[in-house]
Amino acid sequence: MHSLKELYKIGNGPSSSHTIAPKKATLLFVNKYKECDFIKVTLYGSLALTGKGHLTDYIIDKTLNEHGIEHEIEFNYLDLPPHPNTMIFHGYKNNQEIVTKTILSIGGGSISVLGEMLEEIPIIYPHKYLYDIKNYILENNLTLCEYVYTFDKDIKPYLEEVYKQMIKSIQEGLEKDGVLHGELKLKRKAPAIYKSLKQDDQEIYRIKKEITAYAYAVAEENASGGQIVTAPTCGAAGVLPSCLMWAVKSNQYPHGKIIDALAVAGLFGNIVKFTASISGAEAGCQAEIGTACSMAAAFLASLRGLSTDSIEQAAEIALEHHLGLTCDPIQGYVQIPCIERNAVAALRAFDACDLASMLDSKDSKISFDLVCKTMLETGKDLGEHYRETSTGGLARNYKV
Ligand code: SF4
Repeated sequence: MHSLKELYKIGNGPSSSHTIAPKKATLLFVNKYKECDFIKVTLYGSLALTGKGHLTDYIIDKTLNEHGIEHEIEFNYLDLPPHPNTMIFHGYKNNQEIVTKTILSIGGGSISVLGEMLEEIPIIYPHKYLYDIKNYILENNLTLCEYVYTFDKDIKPYLEEVYKQMIKSIQEGLEKDGVLHGELKLKRKAPAIYKSLKQDDQEIYRIKKEITAYAYAVAEENASGGQIVTAPTCGAAGVLPSCLMWAVKSNQYPHGKIIDALAVAGLFGNIVKFTASISGAEAGCQAEIGTACSMAAAFLASLRGLSTDSIEQAAEIALEHHLGLTCDPIQGYVQIPCIERNAVAALRAFDACDLASMLDSKDSKISFDLVCKTMLETGKDLGEHYRETSTGGLARNYKV
């Protein structure tokens, strides 16, 4: 597996595969083919069907304008692409096409160029299945976070940056009122939820309100193109930070322990990325929100000092009960159902952690690896209309 730096990416929303990756692809093309005086970009599949709402054309346009290159961006809704998120870049000089590259957005902000090896991202973890990781840590007497620090040697300072950005995204989201961009005219709700916290609210209700407000804050920032951390993606970026902010505010956990828990959460996200998928276009929302919920559950379980098996069980429960969750953002905006879904998943992460602490992990019949395999298979069985194309589910049935 790659470093956690490849999972936790700091960038602009609203979608790792639809904004972070297309920006990266545009920069790659522009910097490599400097001789081009005109570039045409054609978007296919999910990038065409939900590109407007996900600001794909906006980010490509902005990046090319920053480089002073004349360009045209077109949406191709008809032809079947080689991958659900495909971009074809045509580079021209003096009206002659001189280069064509097909670039795929493969999830979590990563790209690959068809037929080319990109500058290779080093594989620094020797394992990708939790089964093997557990055997390794047992043999070497390590905890899960020590496992991360053994192979991802300089990750701690980066996790500090991730921590700061997660808090910042919440703070910024809590301060912004008004309406999100786009035709849904969706009101931002985070500040109102946060302001509704009352001293005499029952404690459990207070905590839930707080977590909900934090999750909304990040998800609304993401929806408006604000800066967030992919955890594991932009669309699901509010789940883990809301649990993290709760931990910070609760004053129950030393800072170092929160960073360790962030490492553990990242490890679980990385396992899903490498053994299943974290892409909504590939496997539906279970791959995004389901993974985020399992990362948050692992984070909470690690923070609470549960055993490795119980941390696994918390993450497994969180992902298992998102199996089959479809991706159907209305009009392609990462707003409905995405924003509310971040809050629901954050609350579920607490439940998954609580449940794991009540159960005997030795009795568990379902491993995390098994649920990852099942999630990928389920994702492949989902019709294309449920995989970030905005052609099924709520997106199809919603009427203005
Ligand atoms: S429905 Fe889920 S996977 Fe789809 S865009 Fe929204 S958050 Fe991402």
